Amino acid sequence: MDAIVDAAAGQFELNQDQRAIQEMAQSFAADKVAPHALDWDRDAHFPTDVVRETGPLGFGGIYVGDDVGGSALGRLDAVLIFEALAHACPGFSSFISIHNMAAWMIDMFGNDEQRQKFLPRLCSMELLASYCLTEPGSGSDAAALKTRAARAGGNGSDYVLNGTKQFISGAGGNDLYVVMARTGEDGPKGVSTFVVEKGTPGLSFGNDERKMGWHMQETRQVVFEDCKVPAENLLSGEGAGFKIAMAGLDGGRLNIAACSLGGAQSALDKALAYAGERKAFGKTIDQFQALQFKLADMETDLNAARLLLYAAASRLDRKTHDASKWSAMAKRFVTDAGFEIANEALQIHGGYGYLHEYGVEKLVRDLRVHQILEGTNEIMRVIIARHLVGR
Ligand SMILES: Cc1cc2nc3c(=O)[nH]c(=O)nc-3n(C[C@H](O)[C@H](O)[C@H](O)COP(=O)(O)OP(=O)(O)OC[C@H]3O[C@@H](n4cnc5c(N)ncnc54)[C@H](O)[C@@H]3O)c2cc1C
Repeated sequence: MDAIVDAAAGQFELNQDQRAIQEMAQSFAADKVAPHALDWDRDAHFPTDVVRETGPLGFGGIYVGDDVGGSALGRLDAVLIFEALAHACPGFSSFISIHNMAAWMIDMFGNDEQRQKFLPRLCSMELLASYCLTEPGSGSDAAALKTRAARAGGNGSDYVLNGTKQFISGAGGNDLYVVMARTGEDGPKGVSTFVVEKGTPGLSFGNDERKMGWHMQETRQVVFEDCKVPAENLLSGEGAGFKIAMAGLDGGRLNIAACSLGGAQSALDKALAYAGERKAFGKTIDQFQALQFKLADMETDLNAARLLLYAAASRLDRKTHDASKWSAMAKRFVTDAGFEIANEALQIHGGYGYLHEYGVEKLVRDLRVHQILEGTNEIMRVIIARHLVGR
């Protein structure tokens, strides 16, 4: 029923503006990202210059207000951009997606001063931002976070932060950290959100984690040791932080799903091309029906994933009451399907799929983490079930 309403609203037919946005992102991805993605992966190189080039295209603040340099686009527009960028490199796309999530949180929950101070340079990509929720002792159970922010200074003009954030994408290189820290009681109501600038005394970073995929971007701990942050960097009021963090994730989940979708489309494209060339038993392997059925299932799953994701994005654009459930459903379904499609594409490549130069094993490695971050796919089921049967 819901999907019918979406279809009637024309959300599955992209309009002219959406097609133009999609084409711009596709062309940037094909020219500036795709030719280098395998080298960045092999060398664990973060391409700061290419990331910054997305600023003038409007990708630094896709759904940030235009009064502060944002593009003021919708969630479906953003999904189209991340899908297109991920076709070239899911790691690149996901980095820009997390930056956008952090920028939107400042746009949505910051006051005028905070918006004017940070957003123009975030939108232009002069500043890059990280999202800091997870801690060594709390991931899925994010409301159990322990990083403390205590009032200090004359008239409480500062907060002093102590604690450690774990698995932070872009940490070390990025300029701004949107940090969830405890200012009050245990549980979600005691959490507040701060913007912490790189260079603040008491802010430091752990080692760059060696990981399975996303090699082109850094993942580090963010450590606060008596880190003094001006009270004017508190977003919204004390105690609003958990709501802010979860609101950011609704959009973040759609974006990370879009990164899976783009990566999976790339894997399917590679599998089709390879199957049309590779010969076995006197014919190209795409002539075997077993393999044709596999390709047919991949195409079907990919498009089912795309429709669900676009429908969920359209719901968040329209702020429907069930938008969080749809974001969770899309995140769960699309990232699972995306990983399976990439893995099947590797299988279709036989032994060559296991080699770096064919680019398929990178897609499998890159897409695997999408089932874990921005809320694991088990937590997505928890959210969906909560909407169905209550707590
Ligand atoms: C490469 C990478 C980049 C990341 N980037 C960021 C970032 O930029 N910012 C940030 O804040 N975080 C980031 N994360 C952290 C990520 O969001 C967490 O890893 C994720 O939320 C899971 O938390 P956890 O690792 O502590 O696992 P845990 O919460 O310990 O979960 C372990 C297992 O238990 C399951 N589980 C837990 N609770 C339940 C339940 N109630 N019901 C069923 N199953 C359950 C989980 O699904 C999982 O399978 C990143 C992680 C990685 C790997």
